[in-house]
Amino acid sequence: MKLLIVVPHPDDEVYGAAGTILDFVAEGRTVGLITLTRGEKGRTLGLAADPEELAALRAGPGGELQSCLEVLGVQLHRQYTYPDGGLKNVDAEELTQLVHAALEELRPEIVLTFPPNGANGHPDHVATSRVVREAFARAGQPCTLWYYAGTPPEDPALLETYLPPTVERDVTHHIATKLRAISMHRSQALSTVDFLRRYAERITHETFHQAYPPLD
Ligand SMILES: [Zn+2]
Repeated sequence: MKLLIVVPHPDDEVYGAAGTILDFVAEGRTVGLITLTRGEKGRTLGLAADPEELAALRAGPGGELQSCLEVLGVQLHRQYTYPDGGLKNVDAEELTQLVHAALEELRPEIVLTFPPNGANGHPDHVATSRVVREAFARAGQPCTLWYYAGTPPEDPALLETYLPPTVERDVTHHIATKLRAISMHRSQALSTVDFLRRYAERITHETFHQAYPPLD
């Protein structure tokens, strides 16, 4: 497996990495995704009556995430049902073992997750980053480790722990497919326009911080 992405929410895979996924899939390589929650705490935009309905819409069979992954050609997806917004209350050892087992089984060349500050500080992003780092260390640092990395955050607390991009990938050639993949997350349309307003350049240039092996 070329790339394994470990994230908490349906749609965390697409904004910052869709073009990179498409590149690897085009090379005939396997890309895997682990999604820890079904995103039931997300916006509904009136498309779902309650969290359970939203979970089905986003992460159920034939749902938004599955449609997105079909567009991207992601071959392996593991959907878990840990509580959206509540990952920090889940037994960290259980999550670490889950990721550790996946690393041992799938043997990815690159693992991608959120940076330690969660990029935007979201507690699920922070918790996911922590368990991936722990599992990565326990597996003996078996591969390359990337974090999502964007422009410096405005929030001083986030800025203090900000890790700048060290890997930049021009994915302009995938723009149409990437936008189609993003559009599959219909219920998250406001997240999409927020992303476009703030980070339009990241549609065509995907940036990561390589945490291991460290780059000079
Ligand atoms: Zn997220």
